[in-house]
Amino acid sequence: MKKSIKNELFLLGTKGGPAIRPKGSMPSSSLLVLDNEKIIIDAGLGVTKSLTDIGFNLNELSNIFITHLHSDHYLELGPLIHTAWTTGLTKKIKIYGPKGLVDYWQKFLLSMQHDIKNRIKSEGRISLKKIVNIIPIKKEFFKVGKIKVKFIKVPHPPLKESYAYKFIGSKKIVFSGDTRYFQPLASFSKKSDVLVHEAILPEYIDQIVKKTGLSLKLKKHLKSSHTKLDEVIKIAKLSNCKMLVINHLIPNDNTKKQKIEWQKKVNNKINTKVIVGQDNLRIRIS
Ligand SMILES: [Zn+2]
Ligand SMILES: [Zn+2]
Repeated sequence: MKKSIKNELFLLGTKGGPAIRPKGSMPSSSLLVLDNEKIIIDAGLGVTKSLTDIGFNLNELSNIFITHLHSDHYLELGPLIHTAWTTGLTKKIKIYGPKGLVDYWQKFLLSMQHDIKNRIKSEGRISLKKIVNIIPIKKEFFKVGKIKVKFIKVPHPPLKESYAYKFIGSKKIVFSGDTRYFQPLASFSKKSDVLVHEAILPEYIDQIVKKTGLSLKLKKHLKSSHTKLDEVIKIAKLSNCKMLVINHLIPNDNTKKQKIEWQKKVNNKINTKVIVGQDNLRIRIS
């Protein structure tokens, strides 16, 4: 990655939900480059390859924020860290998120114990356990270098812990995480430079439920745990953010046609600049 890069957001995976389909988009992960700090937000399937594809050196892995423990946001967390370790990562890394991450990480290490032990013994690698620090969300804010990170708990039933994060440096960037319509997010993201918000098109819910072959339970979850596009626009208006990035799109089949459809549904509804997310999209923050 070039040294001159200052503030940028890379959307790596922009799909809402865990299933992946031929030529489709990938689950949630993003890289925020803010004041030269590189911060990963969520580690859904595909994050490791997407990061290296944009030129990110895995040795630079340092801070990862997980919004909540749905697999489309952390399925590849362990493999990402493990791969960074085998790539030569020796610096300590910090993983922030719900307290269940502690358990996840311990069990991941257990599941890979044969490999890890062998690599330490036969390749002379340092202890993987020692370079990872899992930090459950508790205190009021965190610091990543000079960046202040604030959070609020957002409603995403049935999960008890789902977080929105705000990164405050020379720019203010907010990630909603997965949430149903939650008006406090508007004040949380007041005058932010970028609001990255999840969104669902409710008219697609029946089609999605049919495609997955699942029951009314999924339908209920989609309706009660995510934010409709019109509601996202409302939050963005109330917040007066400078840019709205629509992310974690439900549906997101990665076709041009669908992207145009999303775009049409936001056109003329808000004066703020709106970007409809897509995988591997690089957004300059100025
Ligand atoms: Zn999700
Ligand atoms: Zn979720």
